[in-house]
Amino acid sequence: MAFEPPVTCPICQDTLTPDRTLEDHLVGTHTHREVVRYLLFRRERVGAGTI
Ligand SMILES: [Zn+2]
Repeated sequence: MAFEPPVTCPICQDTLTPDRTLEDHLVGTHTHREVVRYLLFRRERVGAGTI
């Protein structure tokens, strides 16, 4: 059985319990707006210089 390292939420830095997925946490804990803002922020960093 492979041991998976704990997942940390990229928004609030919470460490998730193994029985919860990041998706569950995002949906249950954060608003849609928070998640979208994070995704856009990450895309900006990744795509810096391409615009
Ligand atoms: Zn979180």
